[in-house]
Amino acid sequence: MNASETAAKVRSGELKAEELVKNRILKIKELNPKLNAFLEIFEDSALAQARAVDAKSPETRGRLAGVCVALKDNILYKGHIASCASKMLENYKAPYNATVVEHLLKEDAIIIGRTNMDEFAMGSSNENSAFGPVKNPLDLERVPGGSSGGSAAAVASGMVDMALGSDTGGSIRQPAAFCGIYGIKPTYGSVSRYGLVAFASSADQIGPLTADLEDNALLLEVLSGHDAKDSTSANNPAFKPEEVKTEGLRIGIPSDFLENLNPEILAVLEAAKADLSAKGIIFEEISLPYAKYASPCYYILTSSEASSNLARFDGLRYGYKDNSAGDLEDSYLKDRAEFGPEVKRRIMLGTFSLGSAHAEDYYLKAQKVRNLIKNDFVQAFKQVDAVLMPATPNTAFKIGEKAEDLISLYLSDLYTAPANIAGVPALSFPYGKDSKGLPIGLQLYGNFFDEAKLYALAKLLEK
Ligand code: GLN
Repeated sequence: MNASETAAKVRSGELKAEELVKNRILKIKELNPKLNAFLEIFEDSALAQARAVDAKSPETRGRLAGVCVALKDNILYKGHIASCASKMLENYKAPYNATVVEHLLKEDAIIIGRTNMDEFAMGSSNENSAFGPVKNPLDLERVPGGSSGGSAAAVASGMVDMALGSDTGGSIRQPAAFCGIYGIKPTYGSVSRYGLVAFASSADQIGPLTADLEDNALLLEVLSGHDAKDSTSANNPAFKPEEVKTEGLRIGIPSDFLENLNPEILAVLEAAKADLSAKGIIFEEISLPYAKYASPCYYILTSSEASSNLARFDGLRYGYKDNSAGDLEDSYLKDRAEFGPEVKRRIMLGTFSLGSAHAEDYYLKAQKVRNLIKNDFVQAFKQVDAVLMPATPNTAFKIGEKAEDLISLYLSDLYTAPANIAGVPALSFPYGKDSKGLPIGLQLYGNFFDEAKLYALAKLLEK
């Protein structure tokens, strides 16, 4: 049963939300000690919510009635801790609901707990959590990807129906690929960022991770829409899953961007191309000449924004406070020491890139490169309806394998970061396996607000 079928049965009264939630909690308690995907189960509030849904009259129950959804630990749910998997916010309780949480509650989704992540969403393996790494449910020696690794592992292991992640450079799509599930980074501005702890505001988007394709579209529909509380929220209407006639649609493959692609992933990409061609899709060669610069551009821009966004964690207003601190400088030194090494690295890189001596060479240059990359996609979508590429340069790697090799870890975002840089939507979907039996994720990029086409094309490849 997918989530929409579950919700339909809860609405009709055939299933009780309370029973469903109790079963989910048992399952999470059984699996989580192995996986470390959840940092906390919201047992009391989830059960109270479930009872309230069961008490409603059937016609007033929402579209996600009784469906258990997990929140990444950087999304605010009033009265609950949102720690960003950081010691800095270990005990921080959200004073209000994120807009996406309001949307979930309105549709009677059950918010079952908060999931582990890379600290402040910085990472590609979930090894940067202050509360221990998450294990990939398909192979416990391997990473689930990051930074939304807890959300991906929770869905892939069947602990929940759906989870929310956030994606600044690939943090929904890369873990989805590593765990064999669906994840979308929606068009920038289509899902409100109000109540999402900011990493890099110009790139962050919340989005759904699900095991089922239809559920993914349903959840995006619930989450999206204009929000006056987010100044970057688009004025477009909320996303609606719609019938799209796929025959005759054009897909571009950016060969110049896919040089040196891992041969096993290339073979799967070719298989998907053949599969789609047989279903009436027309393929074209396209060029994305600047996309290969997305990773360096991404790390300059997002670290710059992060250094500014994370300046608020000064020990005075939010989070950790060392009471032995003397003067202001001592307090900064002691309180901000609570950040983990990756977060400190990004703050230093960002502060450097924004400094008056270097801004011209780094931050401002990266802004120019961002425009060139965006223009690559604007041009491509004049020619084609979607772009097909891998989600990741490799499949799930072993825990610890890349700990000493930051550059290779940063390059995990090679194929995902361009979507955040350009603002366009991209859907990661499972297709095929490598020789170790690990899932391979492919990715469809679309034009601004053209998510419906991506879902329709992925549907053709659904196994
Ligand atoms: N892996 C990327 C990083 O480390 C992406 C993170 C994200 O999308 N939040 O920054």
